[in-house]
Amino acid sequence: MRFDILTLFPDMFTSYLNEGILQRAIRQKKISVHLHDIRKAATDRHRTVDDRPYGGGPGMVMMVEPIVNTLAKVPKLKRRKVFLLSASGKQLTQADGRKLAAESQIVLICGRYEGVDARIKQSIDGELSVGPYVLTGGELPAMTILDVVSRNVPGVLGKAASLVEESYAKPGWKEYPQYTRPEVFRGVRVPKVLLSGDHAAIAAWRKKRAKS
Ligand code: SAM
Repeated sequence: MRFDILTLFPDMFTSYLNEGILQRAIRQKKISVHLHDIRKAATDRHRTVDDRPYGGGPGMVMMVEPIVNTLAKVPKLKRRKVFLLSASGKQLTQADGRKLAAESQIVLICGRYEGVDARIKQSIDGELSVGPYVLTGGELPAMTILDVVSRNVPGVLGKAASLVEESYAKPGWKEYPQYTRPEVFRGVRVPKVLLSGDHAAIAAWRKKRAKS
């Protein structure tokens, strides 16, 4: 699966993509991530990518032209979806993550300042939000979406079973408590049943403790 991220700050992604599960997924070619610097598509010699809002108001707005010009240079695979990150967009769910993992390409456009000129809507399939709050830019939301979708791409997680029982695997489901060594930490013991080796009893205990 291919991800293309349009941003003014491509370097922000380097550290995140060079660690852990995503780094392994990239190395194993389960996913590929392509960063595109929107500023490179600015048309004036000052590389301007933002301007004052028509109608007045605080802050600056990202210009549509450099974004559309950047998008025009992104290779287009057959099953592609293009999203603008937006606080007012559709809030991402685990089910969306699963659904999007079936696409062959996801393009994410990161806004900054007061957002993006609304005429970007002609060039996208939708707007995605990561929650009911406002961040300074779309880069963290893009990393979140990249992460959520990637873990649902076959082969990205070491054990596909991880996806079956984890929180939100079913509507409203929240995972049971997990424990590891030591058996006793500051006087608190791991529940006896988890040490019993009785798989049926463990499954029943977990089912009871999971929230649904
Ligand atoms: N003026 C905008 C509003 O009131 O909705 C907020 C703009 S925000 C400061 C700048 C950029 O951050 C947005 O264009 C968007 O790309 C990104 N952003 C901020 N919060 C977000 C969220 N909750 N989900 C997705 N993207 C977000």
